[in-house]
Amino acid sequence: MSESPANIHPTFQRLQSRESKERLIGQSGLVIWLFGLSGAGKSTIAEGLEKRLHAEGRLTQLLDGDNIRAGLNRNLGFSDADREENIRRIAEVAKLHAQVGVVTLVSFITPKRHFRQNARAIIGADDYFEVYVHCRFETCESRDVKGLYAKAKRGEIPQFTGRDSAFETPDASAPADLVLETDEETAEASVHRLHQAILTRIRFPKTHHA
Ligand code: ADP
Repeated sequence: MSESPANIHPTFQRLQSRESKERLIGQSGLVIWLFGLSGAGKSTIAEGLEKRLHAEGRLTQLLDGDNIRAGLNRNLGFSDADREENIRRIAEVAKLHAQVGVVTLVSFITPKRHFRQNARAIIGADDYFEVYVHCRFETCESRDVKGLYAKAKRGEIPQFTGRDSAFETPDASAPADLVLETDEETAEASVHRLHQAILTRIRFPKTHHA
């Protein structure tokens, strides 16, 4: 048996196509990428949507920033380079899920425009739905779900996003697919709006959007 590269046929994965896997579970893969300040509502909305989709018989996966940082990305910190690598890896993992038809919810601050552009480029525009979970800094600070804003105020968290490290809002050249105003609506309303927005995108067979 020869070990020549000429005799290697790296096409075996294609024997089971993405389409046949999607047909098996009756849905089309999609990555729903939620981004915004800490405390804006990303996890709450992702968890609420996952619960709803699961109850409807959809296969889902939720990739949460803190969980991924505790495992796969535990060697990464919060420098710009590490934040970029954090996003790159999670985009690759999300893509693997979408390619087998899983509705994949990603909840990461994703503070820089070029991080989001990278995620879109890695995942592919057809499989990527970007959601800006928008909430004023002051509201996030007053919610202080994890006590991080108080710690940051005491100078205990270097490079805290929105305070010491910039959060870049989407601009006209790279608009989000959906903006949820969590200052102004309940979590249930945000989940409902997101659910409505993605329903046609997870249908099988996939209906191509404009
Ligand atoms: P993040 O994951 O963005 O850090 P969390 O989901 O952990 O934020 O916390 C958001 C907090 O804001 C929760 O206590 C949630 O109940 C509250 N909240 C109020 N309105 C909304 C909304 N419309 N969507 C999501 N969360 C909301």
